[in-house]
Amino acid sequence: MAVALPVPILWPRRQDVRRYPEKYRVAALRRYNPGMFRRHFIPTLFASSALAQTGPVLETQTTGQPHKGKVLLAIQAHSDDIPLSAAGTVAKLIEEGYTGYLIRATNDDMGDAPGLGTVGSIGEHVLGNERDNAEVARVLGCKGNFDLNYNNHRMGDVSLNEVIGRLIFLIRALKADTIVSWDPWAHDEENPDHYTIARAVEAASWMAGRAHDFPEQIAMGHAAKTVTEKYYFARRPEITRVVDISKQIDKVIDANRANRAKGPAGHLGSRLRADLAKRNQRLPLLGDDDTTAERNYIREFVVARSRALGAKHGFEYAEAFHYIGPSTGRSRVEEYIKRHAVPR
Ligand SMILES: [Zn+2]
Repeated sequence: MAVALPVPILWPRRQDVRRYPEKYRVAALRRYNPGMFRRHFIPTLFASSALAQTGPVLETQTTGQPHKGKVLLAIQAHSDDIPLSAAGTVAKLIEEGYTGYLIRATNDDMGDAPGLGTVGSIGEHVLGNERDNAEVARVLGCKGNFDLNYNNHRMGDVSLNEVIGRLIFLIRALKADTIVSWDPWAHDEENPDHYTIARAVEAASWMAGRAHDFPEQIAMGHAAKTVTEKYYFARRPEITRVVDISKQIDKVIDANRANRAKGPAGHLGSRLRADLAKRNQRLPLLGDDDTTAERNYIREFVVARSRALGAKHGFEYAEAFHYIGPSTGRSRVEEYIKRHAVPR
């Protein structure tokens, strides 16, 4: 419903309404948004339908394995993308029954920013990140991983159709239902590998379901398969879904700790502990051994953003996504048949 209002509406967040129902009764809402009531705005607009449409959908923890039989592809450009942005959700979906695969588009040969990760040559970066990435897949519970092996930071001019074709093959061969990847529609992205793989993922998710695209794959026995759910993460995301990852936070920490070649987590905790020791200093946070130092460093600094997002939505830790779900609507023709068809 579109209503012109003299003042902006301060919609309460859905989880606040759930948690503090008393506060959001109409009497309280009068205080919350006085301008609205001065204009005799219909208080019933605050009934559940209007409130339910505010804020992102909150995906909570579930019990059992509701996704058993479904396949998840976690597709990243670099070995640290999923660990930093979506590891908790990937781990959660796999715990909930998905068979997961980790796909990495580049070979990470450019390493990372100075001071992060492990110092080395381009070749050493390739080997280190290959090993790290396989460990990330293991930690998150993936059944396998695939490296597409494009050069790091050089995906801006690779053939988009080649990447799309490779992803379509993997979607069909693995029978993928759901993808977690970079958002092709996000803002502020500076890395060409991120936006190139994102564009390829978006196109491949749709084209993989069309038998006339790459028909030789169909002829070789791979059925057309449309990806029906997409969890997109981004540097500045349009957040439509927030996932509670509190239960998976240890796997998130371990996935980031596995990124030793690239950082920005890896072994930085133990390195900081050693540097401080040389200066006759110590941080109680970093404990008495390297493993504790690395894990506590990641918990304190690297997943701080997940902690802040979680606090905003009533969770201990959370991850944010632009989520695109399956199409739920029937066609107009189907709707018409359902309502009007009669026996012959
Ligand atoms: Zn990246």
